[in-house]
Amino acid sequence: MSNLPFEPEFEQAYKELASTLENSTLFQKKPEYRKALQVVSVPERVIQFRVVWEDDKGQVQINRGYRVQFNSALGPYKGGLRFHPSVNLSILKFLGFEQIFKNALTGLNMGGGKGGSDFDPKGKSDNEIRRFCVSFMSELCKHIGADTDVPAGDIGVTGREVGFMFGQYKKIRNQWEGVLTGKGGSWGGSLIRPEATGYGVVYYTEHMIKHASGGKESFAGKRVAISGSGNVAQYAALKVIELGGSVVSLSDSQGALVLKGEEGSFTPEEIDTIAAIKVERKQISELATQAAFASKFKYIPGARPWTNIAGRIDVALPSATQNEVSGDEAKALIAAGCKFIAEGSNMGSTQEAIDIFEAHRDANPGAAAIWYAPGKAANAGGVAVSGLEMAQNSARVNWTREEVDSRLKNIMEDCFNNGLATAKEYVTPAEGVLPSLVAGSNIAGFTKVAEAMKDHGDWW
Ligand code: GLU
Repeated sequence: MSNLPFEPEFEQAYKELASTLENSTLFQKKPEYRKALQVVSVPERVIQFRVVWEDDKGQVQINRGYRVQFNSALGPYKGGLRFHPSVNLSILKFLGFEQIFKNALTGLNMGGGKGGSDFDPKGKSDNEIRRFCVSFMSELCKHIGADTDVPAGDIGVTGREVGFMFGQYKKIRNQWEGVLTGKGGSWGGSLIRPEATGYGVVYYTEHMIKHASGGKESFAGKRVAISGSGNVAQYAALKVIELGGSVVSLSDSQGALVLKGEEGSFTPEEIDTIAAIKVERKQISELATQAAFASKFKYIPGARPWTNIAGRIDVALPSATQNEVSGDEAKALIAAGCKFIAEGSNMGSTQEAIDIFEAHRDANPGAAAIWYAPGKAANAGGVAVSGLEMAQNSARVNWTREEVDSRLKNIMEDCFNNGLATAKEYVTPAEGVLPSLVAGSNIAGFTKVAEAMKDHGDWW
């Protein structure tokens, strides 16, 4: 796989997975899985296309559109669309690759895919966004379908964009079908889908905390550092507060907003205010100067929260984007007392950060034992509820909030237990060292996909 040095993010994701398989007993027990790893690392199909649209000045604008249909062994390709100027094939291949194993961990029948565009929604009008989405879907609609490939949102793609794209798909294909998830509630969307990734990260982390403390501790009283301020961060924050924890930071691509003192928390009302400005595609820096925010929070331009928080940190939930925790930041989090790290973002931690977290699994007396959960396990709740949305669309039914939330809780619990049990089966840590949730989750997701691919004759 290493003939792709020009795809740094994809190589990083590949190496992260491959190294955990290598360092376990998996290939000793099943050497034939090396072949499966080679096959699964090449996308089944990559679609790249031109998106031409008209801005409000009547000028022609051109962007690149993509869909990486990575693996369909377990079901239709499934994964979000990202609209962000950084989008390129390396980033979408890393996201699609992660998605294969994440979707496998949900226990639902979904393959892995990812797509998007280098279009930047920031600074665009609603009409420009609509015209872009229509043009993007005019091409993408030829390649997707409810039983073929079901995109959803990711960074820069919310329910509004999903709506514009769904409308265009329906017009061109003359078909009302569950071809996208994250739809509006009145036209086929699932309840709890907007909340699902954030809630899911918190449900997963609660299992880590409970397991680590022998059932004695929960989120109650914990100080929780969160990065990001989009959909994942917002709902993670609200759930942490509901469970009795304190949220001490949020951020966006321009800077971090952290509590000034060592006490207190963001309130649900403050999070609602942040959510409202994000709908308008504005930055949190605009809030930082308002008196109510300025008296309580410190805004640090160009910074991430991790090294800027006053006082103790118990839990960190990176929920912004890839590579948002460096090795030095991982060390700073541990020094601040952080024992639980779970990624709401995809590949939130750099390999250096993962290595530092993993090196601190030593639970021997006196050592600070760290539990680290990678995005493909901890943030699987979003795509899991997308899978539940697909099921509801196919059956033409709508489940209640309680029904969807309880299924989400069960999926996150299974995800944690599966990663833990698989780590115990394939990795033998030294006495007193915690099982690795990275290795366990990677091995559990990989073996499920590898077995299905073998049944299909994709490798032998
Ligand atoms: N973009 C989300 C993820 O990274 C959700 C994908 C989906 O719902 O299909 O998992």
